[in-house]
Amino acid sequence: MPRKREDVEREIKKLSGKMSKLKGELKNAKSRSMIKCNNCNKRTQVSKLVYLQTHWYEEPYSCTAGDRWHEGEGQFICSKCGVKNRLINRREKITDLKDYFSKVENVYEQREPYSFLREPEVFVI
Ligand SMILES: [Zn+2]
Repeated sequence: MPRKREDVEREIKKLSGKMSKLKGELKNAKSRSMIKCNNCNKRTQVSKLVYLQTHWYEEPYSCTAGDRWHEGEGQFICSKCGVKNRLINRREKITDLKDYFSKVENVYEQREPYSFLREPEVFVI
């Protein structure tokens, strides 16, 4: 026998409450995620780090194309040793955690998208 409208509405309300509680828990758990520095091997909670969102510039070409910025990789500076770490090629799912860093800082660098791959003294992979 089909349930009464009031009963269904009551159950939906109950489940919605549980759902937002779970979402809150997930948010807290994500902000507690630890990230390892590839230089000093120490781990820091993402909520204590700044996410550096790099951007790279595309030179203008033809009449209207190019001349714009693209979002590049994410990086962070280790709070323990001060070395800049790249967030690509990591086992942890970092893009998923971007919103849980203390803040996101946009970095604009006018150079080729992957030229920094040749700078191992600056970037630890
Ligand atoms: Zn470090």
